[in-house]
This record gives sequence, C-alpha cells and structure tokens, in this order.
Amino acid sequence: MAQLTAQEFLDTVLVPEKQSDHICWQCRFLRPVLKNSKFPPADIIGWCTKLHWPHYWCVADFNVVKKCYAFQSKR
Ligand code: SF4
Repeated sequence: MAQLTAQEFLDTVLVPEKQSDHICWQCRFLRPVLKNSKFPPADIIGWCTKLHWPHYWCVADFNVVKKCYAFQSKR
C-alpha cells in the first residue's frame, strides 16, 4: 500500500461539501466547508486564510475565482 502525504491524507478525511471551478481547490490556503456541515452560509465553498490575513475571507460559490495573485499549489 502506498504511503500518503499529509495533504493526501487530509483530502481523504476532510471531504468538501461542494464542487466548483474555483482555482482555490488546488490552493493550500483554502479551508473548505466540509460535507454535511450545517453551520456556514449555504453560498460559500469555504474560507481563504491568505488574502485578508489575519481574518478569513468567505469564498462565494457564485463568484468563481479563476486567477489569484496569492495562489500557492497545495501539492
Ligand atoms: S489565496 Fe487565492 S486561490 Fe488561494 S484560497 Fe485564497 S482566494 Fe483562493
């Protein structure tokens, strides 16, 4: 059995609620809304921990981020 990296392991246990075309899904700074979570607003895919640090920025699902100057691949 192949060894998982820390990021690959997190991807298997922290399953996101949504899917979309945001570049954020490949970014190390996104904290996604998790599957079956009832707390967050229904119109976000998750939170960006980079752009407005130290605050989190809600990433809306209707405003698709295709390019971002702060993007860093999580792989
Ligand atoms: S830094 Fe940019 S690409 Fe990364 S999660 Fe934030 S908004 Fe998305």
